[in-house]
Amino acid sequence: MRDVFDIIVVGAGPGGLAAGLYAARAKLKAVILEKELPGGQINKTGFVEDYPGFSSIDAHKLSEKMLSHAKEFGAEIRSTNATAVRKKGEGFEVETSDGILMSKTIILATGGSPNRLGCKGENEYCTKGVSYCAICDGPLPIFRNKPMVVVGGGDAALEEGLYLTKHASKVYLVHRRDQFRASPIIQDRARQNPKMEFVLNSVLEEVGGHDLVEWAKVKNLKSGLVTTIPVSGVFIYIGFTPNSAVVKDPLKKDELGYILTDQNMHTSIQGLFAIGDVRQQLTKQITNAVGDGTTAAVAAEKYIHGSLKNSPIGAGLR
Ligand code: NAP
Repeated sequence: MRDVFDIIVVGAGPGGLAAGLYAARAKLKAVILEKELPGGQINKTGFVEDYPGFSSIDAHKLSEKMLSHAKEFGAEIRSTNATAVRKKGEGFEVETSDGILMSKTIILATGGSPNRLGCKGENEYCTKGVSYCAICDGPLPIFRNKPMVVVGGGDAALEEGLYLTKHASKVYLVHRRDQFRASPIIQDRARQNPKMEFVLNSVLEEVGGHDLVEWAKVKNLKSGLVTTIPVSGVFIYIGFTPNSAVVKDPLKKDELGYILTDQNMHTSIQGLFAIGDVRQQLTKQITNAVGDGTTAAVAAEKYIHGSLKNSPIGAGLR
């Protein structure tokens, strides 16, 4: 007979580590599964300046601190790939690269990934000027009063571009068409901002520099002309893919694939909680993920003890 965990947390980003910490402090039998390095998306940024208590901290240091804090209180972390989560009776079965685990509840902290553009230099200069998060990285000193490029034509590109005008000397908005997907009000705001310049019918071909980004090559799709623009930052907003495919039972999601949860992080599958970037919410910040992890661990404990109300998401009330 296999051991049954109280909670299996899938993913050791900030949300998963916070959930593991709270589960361990509640003396629950919990394990956090991670296929890569603990820390999740934090590992893809340089410095974090918006996590309360740290005015500026090296991103890897912050994830190390979160990991050792969770371990200190007894959270178990296993380096393994969770390939499938299935409801099994009252609980769950999790297939991993090291065998099958059973649990009463699941906290899904699998995050998601900003879509990559695939241009030359994008991967090489990631964390060295190429970023997917204006709020996280825009205020960093390397970008202050410097020109930047934003790629995309949706709400995210225009909103984050507008945010970046607070820090940049100029923001070039590079979009492959001459029509935006962004809502008209955001388009108007962007048009009226003197620091914004639209570079339409154009694609980013290459990012380059020495140690840090220094220039971006932009190609006009109509004329074929390639222009090199001196910039310090390249922010890419061409969509985001939440990682929820590991759950094999039907799960309520929005039209973009984000998992729907109630205020307790409870999903449409009773006993399965979703936190951080994989769930539908307003913003994707470390602070959100950590708060979600806290709520989910407390809610999972109540669920195990039978004192958590059923999720209205599961009852189809939303
Ligand atoms: P989006 O609306 O899907 O826009 C993605 C943009 O990236 C599009 O302009 C698309 O160009 C462009 N793009 C996609 N692949 C590309 C590629 N390979 N090369 C160059 N450009 C590419 O994504 P989003 O802006 O992340 O927004 C996602 C959803 O969240 C939307 O429903 C949006 O309304 C919502 N959102 C809302 C707010 C808000 O209300 N405050 C803020 C952010 C996001 P094409 O247009 O040519 O396809």
